[in-house]
Amino acid sequence: MSQDSTPQELNPSLHPRTRAVHHGIRRSQYGEMAEALFMTQGFSYDSAEQAEARFLNAGPDEFIYARYGNPTSRMFEDRMADLEGTEDAFATASGMAAVNGALMCFAKPGDHIVSSRALFGSCLYVLDLLARFGVEVTYVDGTDLDQWRAAIRPDTRAVFFESVSNPALEVVDIAGVAELARAVGALVVVDNVFATPVFSRAVQQGADVVVYSATKHIDGSGRCLGGVICGSRAFVRQQAEPYLKHTGGAISPFNAWMMLNGLATMELRVRAQAQAALQVATALHGQPGLVRVIYPGLPHHPQHDLAQRQMGGGGTMVAVDLGSKQAAFAAMNRMRIFQISNNLGDAKSIVTHPATTTHQRLSEEVRAKLGITSGLLRLSIGLEDAGDLIADFRRSLG
Ligand SMILES: *Cc1c(COP(=O)(O)O)cnc(C)c1O
Repeated sequence: MSQDSTPQELNPSLHPRTRAVHHGIRRSQYGEMAEALFMTQGFSYDSAEQAEARFLNAGPDEFIYARYGNPTSRMFEDRMADLEGTEDAFATASGMAAVNGALMCFAKPGDHIVSSRALFGSCLYVLDLLARFGVEVTYVDGTDLDQWRAAIRPDTRAVFFESVSNPALEVVDIAGVAELARAVGALVVVDNVFATPVFSRAVQQGADVVVYSATKHIDGSGRCLGGVICGSRAFVRQQAEPYLKHTGGAISPFNAWMMLNGLATMELRVRAQAQAALQVATALHGQPGLVRVIYPGLPHHPQHDLAQRQMGGGGTMVAVDLGSKQAAFAAMNRMRIFQISNNLGDAKSIVTHPATTTHQRLSEEVRAKLGITSGLLRLSIGLEDAGDLIADFRRSLG
């Protein structure tokens, strides 16, 4: 790397959309326009002494091995930290490597963690894993601040929640929970996938650590797995990085390069998707054959005001309840534009039946508590025309 590779500094007053296109680019001696893909796992040293010095104390632009860091991955990390308003970020192989890394990197036996109950199935698995190693986990209804208040203790080490839950779209009050956690010095770790980095104000509201599955809206076209942990430099480099680099959770440089490209268009995409989601939810609300339409951007959503305050929008996900598994399956099988799949944040709209797929592992009792009824469908709104999506959904009701 020549000294040209020093990341480009941008005026901090520039709009996030501008920063998401330019921030953190490290140009090589060739002055390439597009972010370079450094598809290399290793780096050569000029001398044995240089190798020794780098292992002893690598500078911010010195690399050792792609499991530790790579210039392309670092560009993605810098751009994510900039976007999220944190000092630093570490890019991971998947969203789950980010969730696992963000919690495992500091937890030890005897620690107490309070978590919202309404979580993605794999996030629940990670918390079960922590419990297996002697961490005490207390689950609460994330929308009820009184339950957080009752569960958080003077010795609570961290709180964890999805700011908008998967799949029932409950919104957790980040500022409210953060205030309770702060009072006892507990770390606030937020899985912000459904809010997206576009509608995220998590750090501003008091989150210490924000994790994303980049697989979703950051890639935006359902191609690559990836994740990222955003937080203070001390947390990212002294806690998350050692854990992830030694346990193999780092992102592939190729996937980081894809994510960097995704970031350039993310704001445009996500705003268009959220606009279409609002149109779909509005059109379907009150539609015969639907028991319920859940969308944080609709005024009847129980946390509508909070969603507006916290995110400034309702996001790209809508949930609808058709009353029974039979009705839900029949509608899914008649859809032509909505694809039956389990990803989200894709350019293609996706329909998911959580009870039989993403949340199948949970007991019926737990599913009931989380609002995952047998008729619930999760819709990830893509980049198609909203009118076409509404027509496809209506036609599917038969
Ligand atoms: C998808 C998802 C994850 C996991 O991300 P992967 O990239 O699939 O590992 C974690 N949390 C939430 C809320 C998700 O939707």
